[in-house]
Amino acid sequence: MTENYDFVIIGNSAAGLQAVRTLRKHDQLATIAIIDREDCPAYSRVLTPYYIGGHILREGLDIVAFSFYQELGVCPVFGQAVITIDPEKHALELADGHKIGFKKLLLATGAEARTLPIATRRACVLRHIADAEKLVNLFQRMKSVTAVGAGLVSLPLLSHASDQAEKHLVVGSNRIFSRVVDPETSTILEDQLTKKGLNIHKQNDIVEMVEKEQLQLKLKHGKQLNTDLLIIGKGVVPNIHLAAAAGLDVADGVLIDENCCTSHPDVYAAGDAAEGTDFITGEATIQGNWMTAVEQGENAALNMLGIECRYQGSLKNNITEIFGIGVAAVGYCQEDVAEIISSWNAVTGRCRRVFLDEKQRVVGANLIGETNDAGLYYQLISTRSVFPGKTMLTGTANYAQVQFHLNS
Ligand SMILES: Cc1cc2nc3c(=O)[nH]c(=O)nc-3n(C[C@H](O)[C@H](O)[C@H](O)COP(=O)(O)OP(=O)(O)OC[C@H]3O[C@@H](n4cnc5c(N)ncnc54)[C@H](O)[C@@H]3O)c2cc1C
Repeated sequence: MTENYDFVIIGNSAAGLQAVRTLRKHDQLATIAIIDREDCPAYSRVLTPYYIGGHILREGLDIVAFSFYQELGVCPVFGQAVITIDPEKHALELADGHKIGFKKLLLATGAEARTLPIATRRACVLRHIADAEKLVNLFQRMKSVTAVGAGLVSLPLLSHASDQAEKHLVVGSNRIFSRVVDPETSTILEDQLTKKGLNIHKQNDIVEMVEKEQLQLKLKHGKQLNTDLLIIGKGVVPNIHLAAAAGLDVADGVLIDENCCTSHPDVYAAGDAAEGTDFITGEATIQGNWMTAVEQGENAALNMLGIECRYQGSLKNNITEIFGIGVAAVGYCQEDVAEIISSWNAVTGRCRRVFLDEKQRVVGANLIGETNDAGLYYQLISTRSVFPGKTMLTGTANYAQVQFHLNS
């Protein structure tokens, strides 16, 4: 027997949840189902390092309670994986054999952590709550921790390890956060993190591993690290197999147009699984951040409702805290822009680097030390605003140095 719904969403996280909220806000009568193979209400993946480090309880991760779905009149189908979708028949099949019909479908299936072919319980990725539960146990006993790959998983996790633990970061690149910050910001950050006790091994990789009482990791440059835990932070792989098997257009992600619609008019995609357009570069991209997932989830839902709504493109938006230092990277933050305006206070550690295009419009911002104004920069970038001026950068504080660079 097939159960039928007006709207079905696969994925109960940032994109899926925002879609549910938007659908219900605009249509009180539609039948809606949300499916996820994880058997719990939506939670924040972003906060899992805080949970693992013992700074918040498991409940602190929850974004909504089970009652949320009931109150919204949405059918939750949790603990069930979707194994096939058939866009032509407007139907999908669950792992237990049940079939669900839909008028419009949203793929908000996110991504999986990229892993390494290593068979040891001491090597972990972090993406799902089950990964977090495993890490909670390992974190309590470790004296040394190593992360490979510098990003949103490795650095926050390392910074939540106990103060006594020895911490190592192995990165292939010649600088950390190379995809989201410019070289100068990387240098400032590396300096601050090193002072906080992080050992950074750049342009390096693990070439050999032996498991004894600890993991013995041999690095490309010859050094050996003995560690209790290896965190694998090598990025993510978008969940596109359902879409690909259904004949939808895919590249790195499920390809979407400016309405977040896939190559089938009744199937939409949003979030880490979807490949849309970058607002600044116009290139096809998967941003892999929470804000983009929320924006695309909302946009997809509006279009699924028949409310024509064009998504203007996604922005990089990484705001995090590592080793007690606030770090934000918003928009396009690389050296090849027309101008970079920079303010850096060596005493407070507060740094602002604002990236402008040839029309003096803000295209990106790297912030270190304080990130409260990250939203403001997001706003300036997404409205293609001209930079309001130096005062925004420096506020009322007396900064040691204000530099102006003109890249010709
Ligand atoms: C440790 C960590 C820290 C992060 N920190 C930040 C940060 O500081 N800032 C930031 O912006 N972003 C951060 N991110 C990234 C952010 O969490 C993601 O961008 C966001 O979760 C994407 O949301 P999504 O809804 O697209 O997909 P996901 O959150 O990946 O959710 C997809 C859901 O789909 C379900 N699913 C997949 N396939 C199926 C199937 N076949 N059947 C049923 N269910 C399925 C999955 O179980 C999952 O629950 C972090 C991520 C991690 C892991």
